[in-house]
Amino acid sequence: MTSTPYADFHARSLTDRDAFWAEQARRIDWRTPPQRICDASRPPFARWFVGGTTNLCHNAVDRHAAVRPEERALIWVSTEVGEERVYSFAELQAEVEAMAATLAGQGVGVGDRVLIYMPMIPEAAFAMLACARIGAIHSVVFGGFASVSLASRIEDATPKLIVSADAGSRGGKRIAYKPLLDEAIALSAHKPAAVVMVDRGLVPFEPVAGRDLDHAELRRQHWGARVPCAWLESNTPSYTLYTSGTTGRPKGVQRDVGGYAVALATSMDWIFGGKPGETYFSTSDIGWVVGHSYIVYGPLIHGMATLMYEGTPVQPDAAVLWSLVEKYRVTVMFSAPTAVRVLKKHDPTLLKRHDLSSLRALFLAGEPLDEPTASWISEGLGVPIIDNYWQTETGWPLLTVAHHIPGVEAVPTRLGSPGVPMYGYDVKLLDEATGEVLAQPDQKGVLVIEHPLPPGALQTVWGDDARFVSTYWQSVPGRQVYSTFDWAARDADGYTFILGRTDDVINVAGHRLGTREIEECISGHPVVAEVAVVGVADPLKGQVALAFAVPREMPATPEAARALEGQIMKRVDEQLGAVARPSRVLFVSLLPKTRSGKLLRRALQAVAEGRDAGDLTTLDDPGALMQVKTLLQK
Ligand code: AMP
Repeated sequence: MTSTPYADFHARSLTDRDAFWAEQARRIDWRTPPQRICDASRPPFARWFVGGTTNLCHNAVDRHAAVRPEERALIWVSTEVGEERVYSFAELQAEVEAMAATLAGQGVGVGDRVLIYMPMIPEAAFAMLACARIGAIHSVVFGGFASVSLASRIEDATPKLIVSADAGSRGGKRIAYKPLLDEAIALSAHKPAAVVMVDRGLVPFEPVAGRDLDHAELRRQHWGARVPCAWLESNTPSYTLYTSGTTGRPKGVQRDVGGYAVALATSMDWIFGGKPGETYFSTSDIGWVVGHSYIVYGPLIHGMATLMYEGTPVQPDAAVLWSLVEKYRVTVMFSAPTAVRVLKKHDPTLLKRHDLSSLRALFLAGEPLDEPTASWISEGLGVPIIDNYWQTETGWPLLTVAHHIPGVEAVPTRLGSPGVPMYGYDVKLLDEATGEVLAQPDQKGVLVIEHPLPPGALQTVWGDDARFVSTYWQSVPGRQVYSTFDWAARDADGYTFILGRTDDVINVAGHRLGTREIEECISGHPVVAEVAVVGVADPLKGQVALAFAVPREMPATPEAARALEGQIMKRVDEQLGAVARPSRVLFVSLLPKTRSGKLLRRALQAVAEGRDAGDLTTLDDPGALMQVKTLLQK
C-alpha cells in the first residue's frame, strides 16, 4: 500500500478542516455530539466542536475505570520522600470523586476558579481532575514560584478556593509552601474563602482559623461520595495557566474542554505513538503546560498510565530516570534538553545499567535541542529522540515529526530542527517589518499561525479578550496572524529551525521567564536606581538571566558589591522564586541606551555573550558597553 506524503496530509488538515477534526472528535466520549466542528466566524477567536457536551475527567478517568478498573492509571514515585504509590483507574476515580466532593462541599461549582499551588504529589492531579469533573476552572501555579508571583496570579484568577500543601522537596531540601502562600494571600487584594491543605508532614505549619481546611479530614468525610461529571459545552473554559510575556503582568492562558480533549487524544496517538495500557513518563512539572497536557490529561485520556515523578534526574544517582523506565516498562518518555545536559555530566554507562527495551522514543521540548546533546542521548539510549516545539499557548506540539499517522509517510528527523508544522497548524514565516510571507528557504522571519488556531490552543487571555487580540494577533503589520514571538527559518525541505525569541522572554532550563518581571522585582530594592535583565547563553541551562543594576551609590569594595548582589538575589528568591534568580547581578554606573532613552537590550546581550554588539550608531554613551565588557572580563 502506498502512503500519503506528509505534506498532502497536512494540507488536507487545513483545506478539509471540519471533516478532518470531525474524525478526530470520535476519539473522545461526548454526551451530546458537536453540532458544528469549527466556528471561525469571529476572528481571531475560534470555537471548536460547538454545541457538543463532554467532560475532561470523564474522558481521562471514568471511561477507562468503567471497562478496566484494575489497570494502572497513576504511578507516583518520589525519590525525595522515598515513596511510591500506584493508583488503578478505579482508585483514581475514587480519589478524584472524594476531592470533587470536597470542593463542591465548599460551594465550588461550574466556572468557579480553584488555584492549585502544589508540589509533585498525586493530590495535585486529583485536584486538577476534580475541578475538571465539576466544571471548576483550575489554575495551577508552579511550586517554584514565590509570594509576589503567586499573589499576582491569585489576584488575576480570583479563586474561590486554593489547594496547597505544607511543602515540596528538591534535592533533599524541604521547601515550605505555606508561608509563601500565606504571604501571597496577604499581598493579594482578592482573598480566597478557603484553603485546602495537604499535610505531608514535611514542614510544620499553623492553619489559619476559619480559612484553612485539612485535606485528610475532608477526604475521610467524603470518601465513597459519588460526584457526577458536569457535562460542559465544548467551549466552556477548563483551565487557565499563567505564562510570561513582554510586560511584567503574567497572562492567564485559557483553554476549552472539548477542543483540548480532542487535540490531546490525537497527539497521544499520532505524535507520541502511545498505546492504551502502556506507561507514559514525562519529567516535567504540573505547574507547566507539559505537565497539564502530558502528565495529567493526555496520557489518561488515551488510557495510558502516567508516571508522576517528584525528584531530580540525578538522585539517588544519575540512572534514576532509567530505573523507572525499567521498573514500570515505560514506552514513551518526555523530558527537556536541560535534563539531558545534566545527565551528560555523569558516567555514560549509567544509560546502559537498566533494561530499556520497553522504551520506544524520547521526546524533548521546551528549549532548543543542540546537536551534541541529541546525539549523546540518542546513542546512549538507542531510541529515536524527537524534538518538538510548542508553547503554553498552543497546548500541544506545533512543530515536530509525527511518526504514527496510519497511511502517512513519516517525516525523518533532522538534527537542529524540531521538524515540520503539525496537522491543523497553518504556519507561516513572515517578515517582521512588512508582514510579507517569506517563501524562500533560509530566510529569518517571525513564526506565525493563521486563524483559526487548531483545537487545544488557547481560547483567549483570561478575563481580557482585548489583551489576547492585541498581544498575539496585532504584532505583525497589516496581518491578523497569531505570533509565536519566535524567530525561525525554514530550509529547502521545509524543516523549521527556531532562532530565539522576538520579545523579552528568556528560557532558563526550559522555563519561560519574563525579564520585565525580574526587572520589576530588582528595581524595587531601595538601593537600585535602574536595572536591565537579559538572557545569556549557558551551556547547561540554554540561557541564564544576567542582571545589570545601576545602584544609587556604587558599592565601595568588591565585598560590598558581593553583599548587595546577595541581597538582590535573595529578594528575587523571596518574591518570584529561585527559578527566576539571575546568575549574577553586576553593578554599572549607566546602562547602554539610545539617545531617546531606549535600552539597547540586544547589544547588552551580545556583549554579555562575547559577541559583536552590532550597529551602535544610536548608542548614547559608548562608555556604558565598555563598562559591561570590563566587568565581564573580571
Ligand atoms: P513555554 O510556553 O514555557 O512552553 O515556552 C515556549 C517557548 O519555549 C517557545 O516559544 C520557544 O521559544 C521555546 N521552545 C519550546 N520548545 C522548543 C523547541 N523544541 N525548540 C526551541 N525552542 C523551543
